[in-house]
Amino acid sequence: MNAPVNPKKLIKGATADWEVVIGLEIHAQVNTEAKLFSGASTRFGSEPNANVSLVDAAMPGMLPVINEECVRQAIRTGLGLKAEINHRSVFDRKNYFYPDLPQGYQISQYQHPIVGEGEVIVDVPGYSEPIIVRIERLHLEQDAGKSIHDQDPRLSFVDLNRSGVALMEIVSKPDIRSSEEAKAYVTKLRTILRYLGTCDGDMEKGNLRADVNVSVRKPGDPLGTRCEIKNVNSVRFIGQAIEVEARRQIGIIEDGGTIDQETRLYDPGKGETRSMRSKEEAHDYRYFPDPDLLPLEFDGAYVKALADALPELPDAKKARFINQYGLSAYDASVLSAERESADFFEEAAKGRDGKQTANWVINELFGRLNKEGRDITASPVSAAQIGSIVDLIGSGAISGKIAKDLFEIVWTEGGDPAAIVEARGMKQVTDTGAIEKAVDEIIAANPDKVEQAKAKPSMLGWFVGQVMKASGGKANPGTVNGMLKAKLGIDG
Ligand code: ADP
Ligand code: MG
Repeated sequence: MNAPVNPKKLIKGATADWEVVIGLEIHAQVNTEAKLFSGASTRFGSEPNANVSLVDAAMPGMLPVINEECVRQAIRTGLGLKAEINHRSVFDRKNYFYPDLPQGYQISQYQHPIVGEGEVIVDVPGYSEPIIVRIERLHLEQDAGKSIHDQDPRLSFVDLNRSGVALMEIVSKPDIRSSEEAKAYVTKLRTILRYLGTCDGDMEKGNLRADVNVSVRKPGDPLGTRCEIKNVNSVRFIGQAIEVEARRQIGIIEDGGTIDQETRLYDPGKGETRSMRSKEEAHDYRYFPDPDLLPLEFDGAYVKALADALPELPDAKKARFINQYGLSAYDASVLSAERESADFFEEAAKGRDGKQTANWVINELFGRLNKEGRDITASPVSAAQIGSIVDLIGSGAISGKIAKDLFEIVWTEGGDPAAIVEARGMKQVTDTGAIEKAVDEIIAANPDKVEQAKAKPSMLGWFVGQVMKASGGKANPGTVNGMLKAKLGIDG
């Protein structure tokens, strides 16, 4: 049974409403020092062809040797995706002419991948419930090198540094129904990989790329023919590619045409996808088990040891933040989106009100970091400093408004927040005598407003504002409020 379609997710065509169906194949570079089957380095930014062993160059007679670290990371990723781990898997040769993979085939896994079915729980902006995207499989395979055609008018170059680097291909089921869902899924998957430390998720370096499969159908119809958009390398482009591809397909079908299954490229400059080649079928690749490699086998104890040593993952952390600190689901999601932000928050919240601290970290600190395009790891304000600001508000030493000024000072000049408050006389005035004096002055200066306030109690706000201004924002707003009510004769 198909779940009922959320009408908000449909795309309006000329003749009908259409549902878009998306499945993603994510290529995630495994975070390891050495390549999948050779000891060559995976370092980014090396001189071209500096990281190429005889195995990567496919010299005759060279033999691939599996890098255990890649296996370990693939299993850990599978565990993080709540997936079935296959204790026996097989490496196959996928035969294809890759100009930048000298073997003439890619070593991949076809019928027996190392990881089977799993799932990812995804919060989508604007949805009240998360969606579940099922994982079909995860397999290990080699990356190819890079051909360079723009350095010389007559020559092409090849850089084999990436050739043979380990990739995890993570294939989703066609469970995604909009560009927003797809973006949220990739973001969540990247979060999980980063928590695990199995892939750094750096899309700018090409360490995480997506093949985006898109089809359209009328709600309730069987799946339509898909097109696969290759190698999309940013979350934003994934969203854009889906939008334009879905519209292209709807246009063709509504004009009476049919969709050819093909491989396409997204051109962000032109905002269009264009055909690259017709889709090849699995049998075109003549897959067969690589005779140089034994099937990959490990036992349950090996997997269990890895499972026991996994870090707390984003879903568990989010749930704990809700329970332990009383945070809203939204705040808990924001704070657990990166391991570094989560750690920062927990350090700042130690022994304090979690909600208050979360507010400060999310609204003030993250707001400011975003504005400056900085990462939490480059924050000029430390967790201890945020904690100290929260303490100063909590004890009534400063008002929320003054706290923002204080934050600004700590951000630009550094220093101990409590000492700054002392030295600069920023303390909130709770001395009722001083407040009363200010209140009396404002009342005396505005007899007409006092008359109006008696008939219209909402005028109170104006008086509060005046007194706060007169005190340089330092008067305790609660005290000001109470005193004004009493003196103006406003109840409640
Ligand atoms: P291939 O390697 O031929 O691309 P895979 O099985 O590895 O095949 O990947 C297929 C991807 O396409 C999966 O992510 C799957 O969810 C997705 N997919 C399959 N059918 C459809 C469809 N009709 N519409 C959109 N996506 C689809
Ligand atoms: Mg594919």
